[in-house]
Amino acid sequence: MERKKSSLVIVYHRQPYEEVKEKGKVLFKENKSPNGIVPALKGFFGEVERGCWVAWKQVSAKEQGSFEKNITINDSFGEYDVVRLPLTAEQVKSFYHVTSKEALWPTLHSFPWLYNYDAVDWNTFREVNRLFAEAACAEAADDAIIWVHDYNLWLVPAFIRKIKPNVKIAFFHHTPFPAADVFNILPWREEILDSLLDSDIVGFHIPRYSENFAGVARSLRGAEISKSKAVEEIFTSSGLPLSEPTVVETLKHNGREILIDTWPIGTNTNIITEHLSSFDAGSRIAQIKNEIQGMKFIFSVGRVDYTKGTKEMLEAFDRLLERRKELIGKIKFFVVCVAPAKGMTVYKAAQRDIESLVGSINGKYGTLGWTPIMLSTRPIPFDELVSYYKTADVCWITPLRDGLNLVAKEYIASKASEPGALILSEFTGAAVELSEAIYANPYSGKDMDEAIDRAIDMSDDEASQRMELMYEKVKKWDVTYWANHITEQFKLIKNNFKNTQEAVR
Ligand code: UDP
Repeated sequence: MERKKSSLVIVYHRQPYEEVKEKGKVLFKENKSPNGIVPALKGFFGEVERGCWVAWKQVSAKEQGSFEKNITINDSFGEYDVVRLPLTAEQVKSFYHVTSKEALWPTLHSFPWLYNYDAVDWNTFREVNRLFAEAACAEAADDAIIWVHDYNLWLVPAFIRKIKPNVKIAFFHHTPFPAADVFNILPWREEILDSLLDSDIVGFHIPRYSENFAGVARSLRGAEISKSKAVEEIFTSSGLPLSEPTVVETLKHNGREILIDTWPIGTNTNIITEHLSSFDAGSRIAQIKNEIQGMKFIFSVGRVDYTKGTKEMLEAFDRLLERRKELIGKIKFFVVCVAPAKGMTVYKAAQRDIESLVGSINGKYGTLGWTPIMLSTRPIPFDELVSYYKTADVCWITPLRDGLNLVAKEYIASKASEPGALILSEFTGAAVELSEAIYANPYSGKDMDEAIDRAIDMSDDEASQRMELMYEKVKKWDVTYWANHITEQFKLIKNNFKNTQEAVR
């Protein structure tokens, strides 16, 4: 029987569940983390009659024959279809590990000197993007919205437009979008831009990225900014490296108007509060406090990635212990820096640097009874992570560049009005929302030193006042607010959307 066509097709490279093998049987389990992008996106399936998700899965030549490409999932978000594009190991390496992570990622994050051109096989990248577009079009009703996510699928809109000219195409960037001076280094810049301009809406987290995109569209295609507006209340409009006073709303190109949407994704404060009031969280928090033994507790969470600035942060911690001997034995730094998936050679040097710095700092200052830094390269389950947030006196998040940074918002959601000092890099998207954070410039050692001193010395009164103000924002502009905002945007291009979402689980 032919599958029912979907009115919303989400194209996102990750699968919307965790695939596990139990007793030889493959099970599709709901993601352990109730927070983050996957549950936020799945919440949209409740808004439409039928939804579909397109992702890739590595499948060996031997398995290709028996591989079930189309499956239907029924979880707490309802029933929806999933297309799993079977990619070979060679395709995954070329499309994802090399082109996406070695060429596009460093350019997007304004690290053009790390951009590896020679290794790129653009034909494979284009081919994989075409496969995604074909799969999405096969599932989409004629009046559907196809919502494509992130830079590794940049060429998908152009293929969709050719196959199914009348569907509505939305594109959302989870990363920064660099200025034309950096973006235009990419030799495929015109093909990428033309594809994005085939969308009906192109979305970004913060005004700077939207403005940068408009700058690229003007520079390469002479696209005209047909509407701009003052930035919304959520954004700090001046004084920060990523501030913008106004933001583009529509671009005019080839007789078409393309909506440019700017809104940062939020976190699910309800789920965090709910979890923190549970018995499990209570006993975990008590256990962590017991382990910390009254020491000042600093916490940092991220992935192994040169963009995350972990090396610069550890160097600042080293200088802190050197400079302030009174902290020896009285401070504990827990650094969660999740190692990349197998096959991601591009992050090997970053991981080596981090592990060796932690070793050297612990060797320099540690004693039999006290180790200053605990490093985890294993991921910490979200339930447990929030217990650490709750207990941490300081949360240290200083990427050199980051599209948004959800960890900062999760820390605030966990602390609510309790004292907690957030050191936040000025180069994270979230910085333009969180003006009560202690800003730091990770490119300046002196600035990082001042920020950590301020965080450690901040009075509880000041730390809770700042936290309360940030909590109000994070709670108001949470993930449900973001989802409702997107739904309203979709209604502007299509009226097959129901009312705003009640709540994203
Ligand atoms: N995260 C987690 N366990 C870990 C480390 C991270 O569950 O050990 C989650 C974290 O709670 C957050 C997400 O991974 O929701 C990371 O998102 P963020 O925007 O901070 O950074 P990204 O990895 O997307 O660059």
